[in-house]
Parts: sequence; structure tokens; C-alpha cells
Amino acid sequence: YSPIHVIGGGLAGSEAAWQIAESGIPVILHEMRGVRGTDAHKTDGLAELVCSNSFRSDDATSNAVGVLHAEMRLAGSLIMSCADKNQVPAGGALAVDREGFSEAVTAAIDSHPLIAVVREEVSGLPPKDWDLAIIATGPLTAPSLASAIQAETGADALAFFDAIAPIIHTESIDMDICWFQSRYDKVGPGGTGKDYINCPMDEAQYNAFVDALIAGDKTGFKEWEGTPYFDGCLPIEVMAERGRETLRHGPMKPMGLTNAHNPTVKAYAVVQLRQDNALGTLYNMVGFQTKLKYGAQAEVIRMIPGLEKAEFARLGGLHRNTYINSPVLLDNSLTLKSRPGLRFAGQITGCEGYVESASIGLLAGRFAAAERKGQPLPLPPQTTAFGSLLNHITGGHIVSDDEPGKRSFQPMNINFGLFPLLEPGAITKPEGVKRFRGKDKTVMKKQLVAARALEDCATWLKAV
Ligand code: FAD
Repeated sequence: YSPIHVIGGGLAGSEAAWQIAESGIPVILHEMRGVRGTDAHKTDGLAELVCSNSFRSDDATSNAVGVLHAEMRLAGSLIMSCADKNQVPAGGALAVDREGFSEAVTAAIDSHPLIAVVREEVSGLPPKDWDLAIIATGPLTAPSLASAIQAETGADALAFFDAIAPIIHTESIDMDICWFQSRYDKVGPGGTGKDYINCPMDEAQYNAFVDALIAGDKTGFKEWEGTPYFDGCLPIEVMAERGRETLRHGPMKPMGLTNAHNPTVKAYAVVQLRQDNALGTLYNMVGFQTKLKYGAQAEVIRMIPGLEKAEFARLGGLHRNTYINSPVLLDNSLTLKSRPGLRFAGQITGCEGYVESASIGLLAGRFAAAERKGQPLPLPPQTTAFGSLLNHITGGHIVSDDEPGKRSFQPMNINFGLFPLLEPGAITKPEGVKRFRGKDKTVMKKQLVAARALEDCATWLKAV
């Protein structure tokens, strides 16, 4: 077989390259880091995690991203196997030692006999003699390639900013004020129920903190005001501006936490930090993405009880997100309709998150490999997490028959809302159960959708 070219060695590109090579087809993986950096990546390692070190919930029985984890493991995902090998405790979440994780992915790709890694920037669309190629250049696609994509598609490729959360040296956190506890003492894989560091605030401290956030000096942001942030990555100061209570109901919610130093006094708000590296020497501030200027940022964060002397391994910052209008531009195997043989994968397709990006890389790799072999791959059933995410990206966005594809396409994490409904009557009160409330029905619905997804995914994988 002649090689398939993959552009971008991030979460999606690394997974795509792996899937292609594992099917016996050679791959040339083009990654620009080493020659040219991005605004967010810090290393030359493949699959670098640029912000949080969490792959989110690992619960495959009732959480949509947990189901996606499980499907990827079934499909032999490189990203998931390296994540599993580099796990750090994080309650019910799958969090990883970011360096160990990226090193493991890099080592696996570098040592695969069918993968050649070329460190170069691809500055335009792939040349015609790369008959099969995948663009997986992510939210920080280099500008010249982004312009070439825009010129080819003629459609609006959107660019907007998000913000990243600070990382703090553990030894600079005052544990006479803070305490270790996972919310509701939840014990996840490898965890102890004490995986997070919690910083308590009373009402006056909370109000002063919110005021300081709103007053804080922000990075020049004018021209991007009004542009959408992706969900789950809203800067804290934007949340603070939306309402005094917003943070207390978001990343600073005090529920399920009891101050070990003062158990009888309920905190008004709590800031949580999650372990960031295997050694436990670094903790990141959960949900604290920010675009405050560095000076203002350090000052405001040091107002948090227990973080008065915080030393920062990395302050939060700004980043860009580029994605294409996939429902209009791509067919259902992720191929650009105007350029047969050219696929897109990862966050640039309009999915959101590490796991989602890697999963779309996995599918793009498998689709490309199947095309090279002349055996088209059946689509994953829509009942699976793979299928529902793929459907979100490539279809499912038609508002009216008169205006196909007109609805604005927004990046999205995997969630149960993307899965097809259950058969009518599927949710019934289990025998012997007295009360079967709305909440119980929701739990059962999630469990049934999750079980159906995993069963259908296993059947699909067996068939392909
Ligand atoms: P990436 O992982 O970014 O990989 C793209 C690769 O392509 C990079 O290695 C880049 O160097 C390379 N590249 C770009 N242009 C070229 C070119 N022209 N030629 C060759 N190589 C090129 N997701 C989460 O789940 N949690 C988070 O907390 C989170 N925070 C984020 C914070 C920031 C600052 C950013 C930018 C994104 C964040 N995301 C987060 C989204 C995250 O980037 C994606 O989920 C994921 O990394 C996307 O995977 P990808 O493979 O599509 O892109």
C-alpha cells in the first residue's frame, strides 16, 4: 500500500496514524512542533494536553464520555491505552500525568514500523499526490493552512478564543486552611476519596473575590467580544460578570465538601484543585480558565484562602479555536466533499475535548485505511457514542427542509442528548421497587443508552 498522510500529531492525528498503521498501511505523520510552536503547546511531544489533565468521567455505565472511553478501548485506541497507563487519582474521572501520557504516545508512534514522523509545517492543502490525507491540525491550526482551508471551502471557518487554567506548586498551598477531599467522598479508579485540594471561602471572601475578578485587568480582547467560548471552558471572570452567584453554582460550588479543619461551618464557596502530575507536586485549579493578565491573575488567585502564597507553574492564558462548518463541508466518513480523499479529524471538525477529538481521529483513520484497501467501512451505529458524535459533526444540523445545514454549528462535547431515543416503554419501574421518581427514570435512561451503545459498538467492531 502507498502511505496515508496525517497532518498534525495531536490527540486526533496520533490516534488516526495509529489506527491506520495497525491496519497494515504505512503512514506519514506531519507535525510542525519542533519546527514551529503554537500559542498553547509547551513541548514537542505528540498528543500534548494543553490545559486540563482530565479525560473526564470514566463511568461507562451512565456517563456519555465514559461510554466513549469504553468504545475507544474496545477499538484498540492508542490514546486510551496511554491514558490508562498514566492515570493519576481524580475521583470518578480519568486524569493523567500529562508528561508521562504524551511521552507514551510519542514512544508508541516513533517505534511503530509503519509510521514515519516528519517534523514540518504543512502550509497549504495536501498536494495532489497525497491521494489520501487527514487534516488533524486542531484548534490552533497554523495560519497559512487555515487560510488554505478557508480558500478551498469557501465557507466560514470560525476562529475564537478560549482561556486556560493556572497550575500551582503543591508545596505552596497552605494545608492548615485547605483539605483533601473528593466531592461526596467519591472514590474513583486508583483514588482515595481525597483526590482534590479544597479551599474554603466565606460569603465576604467570595464577594470580594468576585469583585476583584470583574475589576481585574484583562488581556486585549475587544475584537473578539461576543464570540462564543466552548462550554466547560468559560473564563472565570466571564462567569463572574454573568452574575454574582454564577461561580458559586459552577466551579466554586461548595456541595459535597466538608471543611476538615472546621466541620461544623459550611463553606459559602469552595475552590478545588486537581492533581496534575504523577508526583503530586502540581495541582491545577479546576474550572479556573482565565484571560486575566498575569499580574492581575496572580493577585486575584492569592486572595483565595490557602492560596495566599501560591507559586504558579503556569498561569492561565488565552487561546484560539479554529473549526470548520463540518455538517455542510464533510460527508459522513469525514471526507471534504469538494476534495475526495481528504478527510478532517479532531477538534477542527467541531467536536470538543481531548477524548472526542481522539475518537474522531480514530474513526477518520479507520475510514481512510478502509478506503485504501478498497473496502468501505460501514458507519458506526448511531446508537453508539462514536456514531452519535459523528452524526453531530457530519449531519443532524438541519433546521428546516428549505434551508438544509443553515443552523449554526457549535462545537460540542459528547453527551446523551446526541444519542437516539430509547424504544417507547423501555423505561419501566423495576419489580420490587416502591418509588420510581423522575430522577430514577433519568438514571435508568442513561444506563440503558450506555448499555445499548456498548453492545452495538462491540457488534460493529466485530463486523468490521
Ligand atoms: P491538537 O491536540 O491541538 O493537535 C493538533 C496538532 O497539529 C498540534 O500538535 C499542532 O502542532 C499541529 N499542527 C497545527 N497546524 C499544523 C500544520 N500546518 N502543519 C503541521 N502540524 C500542524 N480539551 C479538553 O478536553 N480539556 C481541556 O481542558 C481543554 N483545554 C484547552 C485549552 C487550550 C488552550 C486549547 C487550545 C484547547 C483546549 N482543549 C481542551 C481542546 C483541545 O485542544 C482539544 O480537545 C484537543 O487537543 C484537540 O485535539 P486535536 O488533535 O484536534 O488538536
